[in-house]
Formats: sequence, structure tokens, C-alpha cells
Amino acid sequence: MKVKITETILRDAHQSLIATRMRTRNMLPIVEKLDEIGYYSLEMWGGATFDSSIRYLNEDPWERLKELKKHMVNTPAQMLLRGQNLVGYKHYSDDVVEKFVKKAHENGIDIFRVFDAVNDIRNMEKAITVAKKEGAHVQGTISYTTSPVHTIEKYVELATELAELDCDSICIKDMAGLISPQDAYDLVKALKSEVNLPVDLHCHCTSGMAPMSYTAACRAGADILDTALSPFAWGTSQPPTESIVAALADTKRATGLDMELLAEVANYFKDIKEQYRCILNPISEQIDTNVLRYQIPGGMLSNLVSQLKEQNALDRYDDVLAEMPKVRAELGYPPLVTPTSQIVGTQAVLNVLMGERYKVIPKEVKDYVRGLYGRPPQNISDEIITKIIGDEKPITCRPADLLEPEYKKMKAEAEELGLVKKEEDILTYILYPAIAPAFLKGELEEEDISTLAVEQSPCASANVAIPTDYKVEVDGEVYNVKVNPVGGSVTVTEVQEKATSDVEGAVTSHMQGMVLSVNVNVGDVVSEGDSVCVIEAMKMENAIHAPYSGTVKDIFISEGDAVSSGDVILSIN
Ligand code: MN
Repeated sequence: MKVKITETILRDAHQSLIATRMRTRNMLPIVEKLDEIGYYSLEMWGGATFDSSIRYLNEDPWERLKELKKHMVNTPAQMLLRGQNLVGYKHYSDDVVEKFVKKAHENGIDIFRVFDAVNDIRNMEKAITVAKKEGAHVQGTISYTTSPVHTIEKYVELATELAELDCDSICIKDMAGLISPQDAYDLVKALKSEVNLPVDLHCHCTSGMAPMSYTAACRAGADILDTALSPFAWGTSQPPTESIVAALADTKRATGLDMELLAEVANYFKDIKEQYRCILNPISEQIDTNVLRYQIPGGMLSNLVSQLKEQNALDRYDDVLAEMPKVRAELGYPPLVTPTSQIVGTQAVLNVLMGERYKVIPKEVKDYVRGLYGRPPQNISDEIITKIIGDEKPITCRPADLLEPEYKKMKAEAEELGLVKKEEDILTYILYPAIAPAFLKGELEEEDISTLAVEQSPCASANVAIPTDYKVEVDGEVYNVKVNPVGGSVTVTEVQEKATSDVEGAVTSHMQGMVLSVNVNVGDVVSEGDSVCVIEAMKMENAIHAPYSGTVKDIFISEGDAVSSGDVILSIN
């Protein structure tokens, strides 16, 4: 029986290689040709495309869906849905999940691939039942990882539960490219014999094994493979469509896709790739077997490097790599995918940089241990729980059961702000309340990709990003100086005096970041351990605690300020 192909070039491929920056105008001229190829489905929405469209492209993701769908008469449109997180980074209430899935289906999504970062089926249930009720095809997903608790039996158990929820197919989502050919064979074989549903294998090439694992999966009876046309294949993306099609030709599992047509479409995307050459990170295109040693997906590696750079600690890279699997084990072996990759990664960075493990713990890590992201694959030890949330008890219910309905309230808010031209705008606002108002009012502009040039890429030299923030020390006083390049000259636009650490009772920031909130006023009495301010660093919220009890004498920062490691935040007497 022939193997079916899901083409990812309009979603995962460019999400993996060029940070989800492909524009709708790059897709429209070719979508009819893509539609002719005879793919099982075209993945073209969801994941990070929603966020990226609004934030960087000044594009309405709902319009993209509608526009593309108009030209897709033969091929089902597929999206990736993060279960209760939808296309965002937190859990939404059930009424929002219901509304979003309905609207996505109404605007053209035929196949919903639904996953959860920790494989907690309770986080997928709502989206699955709504999509099924709407008449869509639902692909229940296994987030694949390797650990002592991730056995074939466990995966089969999960797939069986997904089948009981009436899913139409099962996807093995190997986001870090970890699955070996033998494991792919064994898992597909087990799923095919124990669960009576088509099986789709979705791999990234990060470790280099994906094409081999695909052929092994074919021998075990896999029904669908995810591939990307060659210009956007390899590295942290999927195996190339043309290579997989060619490899299977003349076998019992031949795809039947036309190589000439594929070549024609691939040619088109070669040109598109050149347009984005500046932002193509060379790291993303490489094979990195570290992923097998440290379990770190490709996207996360580059993220890690930038986090360390931000904290001025790139020399601790190896220490962080070694810390990562320890933290992951202590947190119950979550698969590393949004948002758990960020949670484990940031905690590992902090454990290394602070010189003491779990000295600083971001809110998101605490919430994870509280059970607010779902049930970890393995129970977390009491020792770690106490270290992270003290005497608090983790929840045992479905996380979304704790959420009040929010659609009506947010709808009223969005209407009040004058943001709603169509119902979908309300969902855009609920998902991205910080950025959506400016976007929906038409105040945003499309980013200029030339300013995003990755270091050392061919076009970077023409667009060198000049640092504009400097720290200048004069006679022991530290000044933050911001400069704006104007016509080649440099002008000082802002000089702000900063307190130095010889202030009596100084409380300093232990990381570089932005002040999210100041929780105390001058004159307040604080006790040792009180949270005096919250700094956002590495996309996480980190509380700064009073190192001793006393009265707040001076506050040197305010909300929105950028702080460096060592900066004095306030003083306590
Ligand atoms: Mn993927």
C-alpha cells in the first residue's frame, strides 16, 4: 500500500529554518501547484505561524488561512494545535478552546493535529472532542522523547486513549529528531497492531537519523510521512520530500507523487529561500548529534546560545548542556517541546549561572511543578517539590478545570478597545493580548528582514547591528548610556545615573532582564524572602527576594527598566 505524504513547507519547514518568517505572499503564487501534487495534506497553519504573523509580519493569520484555502481544492489543510494551549503558550479556558477550534474549522482547517507537551491527554481532550464534533479529521499526537519512563507500552497506552476519544489517526511527533530507525520500526509496528488507526511519523532531521527512520517506519507499516520540499528540508526541518519519494519509488510503498512536478515546485522555493538567506541560521541547517546526548531540540540550542549571550555567560555553555538532562530528570522527564523546553532550559541556565541549583526559580517552573501544565511523565520527588514550591501541594485535577470561562469577558474588553471587526479578532486578542491591540488597530509594520541578519551570514556584513546600549563607568559610578546612530554620527540621548553596590543594604539583580513589576514602596517593611520585584529574563518571570528583613529605603528602578546582573534594585535598612 502506498505511503501518503504530508508536506510541511508552509508551516513546520520555515518555522524550523527561518523562524516562521515566510509570508503569505510567498505562498500564494505556488499554492495551486502544491495542491496538484497529490499530497495527503498540506500543513499550513498553527504552531508558531499565528504568533509570528501578528508579531513580525503584520499579517492576519485568519486571512492567510482563508486565502490559501481558496486555492486548495484537492488537498486537505492541516494545522498543529498545542492542545489546551491552542496556538499560544498557556492554557486557555474551555470556552476559548471551543470557539477557536470551531473558527479554525470554519475558515478551512480539515485536519487538526493535537498534541500536549507532557502527553497529558486531559490537555488534549477538549480540542479533540470539539474538532470531532465539527466533523474535522483529528490526529491524536504522541510527543516523542526518550527516557527511562517512555516505553513502547506507555506510548501504546496513550494512543489507545486517543483512539477512545475517537481520533482518526495517530501522529508520532519526534520534534527533536531522536527516534532511531529500530525504535521507529518497533513503535510503528506496536501502534499498528494494538491501535487500529493510520500512523503518521513526523521527524526532524536534527540528529541525522530521520530519513533512515522513515524507511524503517515504512517497513513497519507507517501510513503517512511528513516531509518538506528540499530547499526547506534537512537540519532542524523535515527530510526532503523529493528524496523520500525517490527512495520509495518502485517499492510496494511508493508514494505515486510526480518527481517532475515536485522539482518544479522545489525550484520556486529555492528562490524564496534566497530571500531569507540573511535569517537562515547556519546552526539550523547542520546535523547536531548533541541532541542525542543532551535531548535538546535544534531550535532550543540556538535559543540557549542567545540566552547565555544575553547573560554574558557564553563560556558556561558546556556546563549548561550537562545540567539540562539533570533538570529534566528531576522534573519527571518531560518531552522537550514548547513550553517544556523553555522551562527545563531556563532552569538549567539559572542553576549554572547562580552557582547554586534551584536558588532562583522562575514562576513558570513553579507552575509546572504545581501541575498547572499537566501531569509530568514521572512523579517528581518530594525533595524537588519542596525545593521548588515549599509546602504547597501540586494539583491533581485537569489544569483547565481551574480556569474560569474567559471568552465573554475578553470579548467585552476587545469591543471596548474597538478592536473587533470580525469574530476572529476576539480570539486573536485573547491569544495575544499584549500585541493584538496594536496589530488590530493597524499600528504595526512588517519587520524588515535585513535587520535580523544572523551573525556571519552573507548579508550580515551589510547590515551590522550596532549596539546602542552601553554601560560607562566614571570614577566608580556606573552610567547607562543609550546612543542613537544619526547619519553616521553618534549622539548621546540619555544618561541615567545608576546606584552602585556600595549603597548600604543594596539588593542587586542576579541577572540581566527587564523589570516587570516592583512589589514594594519606599517605607515598606519587608521580611527576608519576600518578593520585592519581578524581572523578566529569558522569557520567564524571576522574582527577586529580600535577602534580609528591614525597611525599604530607596528604590532605584521602575517598571520597564532594563537591568544588568549586579545592578542595585533597591536598598533595605
Ligand atoms: Mn515539527
